[in-house]
Amino acid sequence: MNVYDSERMADVLSPIGYAPVDKPDDADLVILNTCHIREKAADKVYSELGRIRQHKEHNKPDMKVAVAGCVAQAEGAEIMRRAPVVDMVLGPQTYHKLPEMIAKVHRQTGDVLEVDFDTLEKFDQLPEARKPKGFSSFLTIQEGCDKFCTFCVVPYTRGAEVSRPVSQIVAEARSLASQGVREITLIGQNVNAYSAEGPDGRDWSLGELIQHVALIGGIDRIRFTTSHPRDMDDELIRVIGAEPKLMPYLHLPIQAGSDKILRAMNRDHTYEHYKQLIAKIRAARPDIALSGDFIVGFPGETDADFEQTMACVEEIGYGSSFSFKYSTRPGTPGASMPRQVPEAIKSERLKRLQDLLYTQQHDFNKSLIGRTLSVLVEGTGREDGQLFGRSPYLQGTHFDGPAELVGQIVNVVITDAGRNSLVGHLAP
Ligand code: SAH
Ligand code: SF4
Repeated sequence: MNVYDSERMADVLSPIGYAPVDKPDDADLVILNTCHIREKAADKVYSELGRIRQHKEHNKPDMKVAVAGCVAQAEGAEIMRRAPVVDMVLGPQTYHKLPEMIAKVHRQTGDVLEVDFDTLEKFDQLPEARKPKGFSSFLTIQEGCDKFCTFCVVPYTRGAEVSRPVSQIVAEARSLASQGVREITLIGQNVNAYSAEGPDGRDWSLGELIQHVALIGGIDRIRFTTSHPRDMDDELIRVIGAEPKLMPYLHLPIQAGSDKILRAMNRDHTYEHYKQLIAKIRAARPDIALSGDFIVGFPGETDADFEQTMACVEEIGYGSSFSFKYSTRPGTPGASMPRQVPEAIKSERLKRLQDLLYTQQHDFNKSLIGRTLSVLVEGTGREDGQLFGRSPYLQGTHFDGPAELVGQIVNVVITDAGRNSLVGHLAP
């Protein structure tokens, strides 16, 4: 979502004369768009600010510096105090105010901090037209979260669940399509909880929205992320089975395999529920590949609990994944739970889990050798005649072909597979 938000910040700033540059050092204005989800991501902000301060002092005294995103939301005042180099702090729901904030900074009417939570006001004020970078684009349809998993800062930094109206999403998708975008990924923290007014005045679900976006000429591929197992309803599963423009790849995190840990995490479902859900989805769409998120070392996780996460991965089977050591986040219930797991044990568990997940990913990629896959060509490779694109399962795919194919969807016969990417040749 930060990728999407950064693009939207560029859209907001373009009418007042700003354009992105390749290196931060060349910029008149640097915006750090930050992530608060794990401690490591949040820590990076201060080290990066130190580097920017040095550059500003030595080379670019007029440079302005803004911190945006979820670290700004969570620690705005602290950032202002600890890093005087920062001129502006803005949370994820206030970046439409950037022009106003920049004007204030130039008038030197003091530092500027904007951390309100009016998601719909933001979307109402963002320009409808987008300037997409390529042929595949993110489109935020929902923001925030009401689930309050006990490890997670999202409900505090992004705010409550809010869905954008169907008409606004369709207008943005049309703008993208008119500029050559072929693939749209509908994004949100909890995207399958989507519910907002449709053209008939009724509240529409994600399934209905997907089918509506699929009618837009030029849009040939649709994805959505991230889903919560609790909100995976039968209507959405039906659409997964019925909508050919929807790619056969679903990110559906479970986080942990033990019911005790799922309960402590406040995920509000059991492993059995997840397993049955996956069975239904696979019945609706047999070619679907799954991806998931996993956390190891949540407070109270014993060896036996962790083995249940391993067993879950063995049983379900994932084509790709994201896995993390539990990171204590200030203000979340998890932070004050007893039986925090020592760092060394977390590292050991993560290594074992990732060995298994990466093996599954490589095996899945190898299973595609000999198959013909549709690939959206995103660009040319390093050498003449090489092309690069994405398969339906999101792997980067390399093959030879003429540069005119960039932006098109072509059939590629897969001949080789690494853990992260595929190699092939254009289908005859
Ligand atoms: N809404 C999505 C996840 C959004 S956050 C869902 O419920 O699945 C993306 C991922 O970051 C989460 O799925 C989780 O695996 C990871 N994550 C979030 N908070 C974390 C924490 N405190 N420590 C480690 N990983 C975390
Ligand atoms: Fe965080 Fe996702 Fe849980 Fe919401 S559902 S609190 S975003 S992990």
